[in-house]
Amino acid sequence: MNILYCAKCRKKLMTYDNTSFKRYKSPVKKCKKCGNLYIDPRCHELAIEGIPSDVFSVKSFIILIIFGVLLLWRGIYLLNQVQLGVPPETQWLMPTVIITFGAVCIIGGIAEIISIKTGLKEKKFNRLYTASKERLKNADYVSILRNLGVDVSEIKEKL
Ligand SMILES: [Zn+2]
Repeated sequence: MNILYCAKCRKKLMTYDNTSFKRYKSPVKKCKKCGNLYIDPRCHELAIEGIPSDVFSVKSFIILIIFGVLLLWRGIYLLNQVQLGVPPETQWLMPTVIITFGAVCIIGGIAEIISIKTGLKEKKFNRLYTASKERLKNADYVSILRNLGVDVSEIKEKL
């Protein structure tokens, strides 16, 4: 877990880690307290970093589905077990959470594979890439990124 603080007023801006959901939009954000600009590390400019190949990896989503099945299986197993130290009226809670999470992984994995196979995901990323390229045509925006420590040296070649 990493915690990001405002460089100016030290307000806590966010907690994040490497597993945080990646967002493909402008990473430039403004501190709500003092108005200082900062980079949201969860956000990525596709036209600088390129479209990551793993978003189109069917294999990684098959792994996600398998993970979901294992969770589902474990949750159903726990549903029939008496958990020690848990009051009778909340016995169902933990297995239900595990089952729900497993089901979300399975459904999400299947939806991702469908969107990869049908080309919908590629279209979506192309759209995000174009939007990123449009942002980077603005010299003021690029200099804000540079001042905030983003490596913008490769932009010129790609646009
Ligand atoms: Zn601040």
